[in-house]
Amino acid sequence: MKLIVIGAVAAGTSAAAKARRNQDDLEITIYEKDVDISYSGCGLPYYIGNEVESIEELTPRDPAFFKKKYNIDIHTAHLVTKIDHDNQQVYVKNLQTDETFTDSYDKLVIATGAKSIVPPIDGVDLPHVHSLRTVQDARRIKGYIDEHQPKKAVVVGTGFIGFEMLENLIERDIDVVIVEMKPHITSNLDPDMADYLEDKLAKKGIDVRTSKTVQTIRADYVLIDEGETIPADLVILATGVKPNVTLAKAIGIEIGQTGAIKVNERMETNIKNIYSCGDCIETFQRQTNQPVYRPLGSTANKTGRIAGDQLSGGSLEFKGILGTSIYKLFEFAIANTGLSEIEARDAGYDVEISHNIKPDKPAYFNGTEMNIKAIADRESKKLLGVQIVGQAGVDKRIDVFSTLITYGATVDELFHLDLAYAPPFSTTKDPIHYSGMILD
Ligand code: FAD
Repeated sequence: MKLIVIGAVAAGTSAAAKARRNQDDLEITIYEKDVDISYSGCGLPYYIGNEVESIEELTPRDPAFFKKKYNIDIHTAHLVTKIDHDNQQVYVKNLQTDETFTDSYDKLVIATGAKSIVPPIDGVDLPHVHSLRTVQDARRIKGYIDEHQPKKAVVVGTGFIGFEMLENLIERDIDVVIVEMKPHITSNLDPDMADYLEDKLAKKGIDVRTSKTVQTIRADYVLIDEGETIPADLVILATGVKPNVTLAKAIGIEIGQTGAIKVNERMETNIKNIYSCGDCIETFQRQTNQPVYRPLGSTANKTGRIAGDQLSGGSLEFKGILGTSIYKLFEFAIANTGLSEIEARDAGYDVEISHNIKPDKPAYFNGTEMNIKAIADRESKKLLGVQIVGQAGVDKRIDVFSTLITYGATVDELFHLDLAYAPPFSTTKDPIHYSGMILD
C-alpha cells in the first residue's frame, strides 16, 4: 500500500510517522513545496528577536532524518498541482527542475496548512512590509532588520503572532506601535480581560492603538484612520491566516462553514481514501459541537497523528477542542480555555462570572498578580471557560482548568481539588480554589 502526504510541517509529518509506526510495509512519500520541513513555527518570532540564535534550532529534522528513522521519502521543493481522485494519483512539479510527473496512492493525506492573510492595503507590496508564517519569512524579516536597521515599526494585529513580534522587535531596539482594527486587543479574551491586559501594557509604555485601521503604507510611515500617520520603516502584518484549500476544493472535497476542509472524527474527507489534518481543516468546539477554525500547532500534531493512525488500521478519533492557548508577552502570560463569556452567552448559557485577582505564590517568594476570569453555567454549575492574565504559573493553572472543563467539572468541585502546595509554587489556597469559592 502506498501513502502520499501533501505538506511536511506539523500535521503531514505527524500523520506519516504514525502511519509508519503502525505499518512496517507502507510505502510513504511526502511532497512539500517549501524547502524547510517539520519546523517549529512557534519559535520563529524568537529567532527574529535573537533569542533563538540559529534557525537550525527550529528546523532540527531534515529529509535524511525521516528516511533513516521512519523510512519516509520527503521531497522538498515539490509542489502538488492537482489531485486526480478517480485514478488515485497526484500531479507533482519539481520546483527546482520544472519537471512534472504523476505519482499514485492508495491513501492520500492533505496537510497543506495555512497561509498568512495579506489585507488589501495600498502599499503591502513594499519591501519593508512582511508577514510571518514560514522559516523563509523569518529569514527574510531577520535579514531585512540586519541589513536596514529599521528604527520604527508598525505591527498590524493583536493576536499572539502580532504581540510576539512586538516583543521581539523591541528586543531588537525598534520602537513599535501595534494597531488593532477591533475595539479590544487579543480576540481570545473577553473585553474586560483585554482591557486589563491593555492597561498593563500602557503602564509599560507600549503604544497600542485599538479601533484603528491601516489605510495606506508608504516607505516611512503608515496612514491610519482620520489621516493620522505613524512613522514606520518596518511593517509586520499579523492579520491572521487562512487555510490552503485550493487542491481539495478543485476535486469537490467538502469545505466547511469556516472555509476550511471538513473532516469527520477520523480525519476522513468526503472523498474515499483522502484524509486531511492540521491547519487546513476545521475542527469542532468540544462543548458546543460547533465547527471552528483554530489553527494551532497543538491541534495540527494531534489531527495529523489521528489521520496517520486511521489510514493504517488504527482507531484513534478526534474529540474536539476547547481552543486552549497561551502566549508570552514580556513578563506576562495570556491564556484561555473553553468558552469566552461572549461565546457562552451566544451558545445560550445563563452565565455566572468570577473575577479573581490573587498572587500565584506568597509575597516572600515574589508572588505576582494573576487575574483569573472563570465562566460557569448558572443552571448546571458546570465550568465553561477560563481566561488568565498573569506572570508566573499561568500555564499550570490554565491546563488544570482545561482538564476540569474536559471532564465536565462543576464549580463546587474546584475547592475540593487536592492541588500541590509549597510556597515556591503556589499559595495554601491556590488561585484555582478561589475561583471555585467565588462561583460556588
Ligand atoms: P503548515 O505549517 O502550514 O504546513 C503546511 C505545509 O504544506 C507548508 O509547508 C506548505 O508549503 C505545504 N503545502 C501547501 N500546499 C502544498 C502543495 N500544493 N504541495 C506541496 N506542499 C504544499 N501554534 C501553537 O499551538 N502554539 C504557538 O505558540 C504557536 N505559535 C506560532 C507562531 C508563529 C509565528 C506561527 C507562524 C505559527 C504559530 N503556531 C503556534 C501555529 C503552528 O505553527 C501551526 O498550527 C502549524 O505549523 C500547522 O502545521 P500544519 O502542518 O498543519 O501546516
